[in-house]
Amino acid sequence: MSMQIKFTNYKDGLHKFVLKTEVEELSIEEKFAGTALLNCEMDKSSTQIIINCNLQVNAKQVCDRCTAEYEDVIETDFKNIYFLTNNRSSADEDESGIYYLSSSDDKIDLSGDTIENALLTLPMKVLCNKDCKGLCSICGVNKNEEECNCVAETSNPVWEKLLKLKGL
Ligand SMILES: [Zn+2]
Ligand SMILES: [Zn+2]
Repeated sequence: MSMQIKFTNYKDGLHKFVLKTEVEELSIEEKFAGTALLNCEMDKSSTQIIINCNLQVNAKQVCDRCTAEYEDVIETDFKNIYFLTNNRSSADEDESGIYYLSSSDDKIDLSGDTIENALLTLPMKVLCNKDCKGLCSICGVNKNEEECNCVAETSNPVWEKLLKLKGL
């Protein structure tokens, strides 16, 4: 797996590294495309390793309004702390972003964090364009691509009554 860093190759101090892998290797090709890219900085000491990463990956998006499929780069930052210890306390195990490395470990695998953070960063609302005109609610054509002759019922009797009351 290429989302791994062999930390034993690095001296104490700050180090930058780049990891990349195809989304197929991470089994997230249903929602993402191309290469997932991690730009990381590692701060290594004798007792702990702090890794800050910037993740960039192409998300396969489907517009909520017009159902167009398109790809969009999503980007997020995450931080992990690895304690180098052979006596890990089980109380801390559930905390996200905190890991333990024993003296037999020599690699850090960032693929799980990459998958998790990519999925968390997917937007809830997706629009191909903020001005997307969507689909015609009557005939279903994509109004970004063609005009249709449907007459939408824009008049709302309650609203018109209110306008009359206000003398508008
Ligand atoms: Zn759209
Ligand atoms: Zn129409």
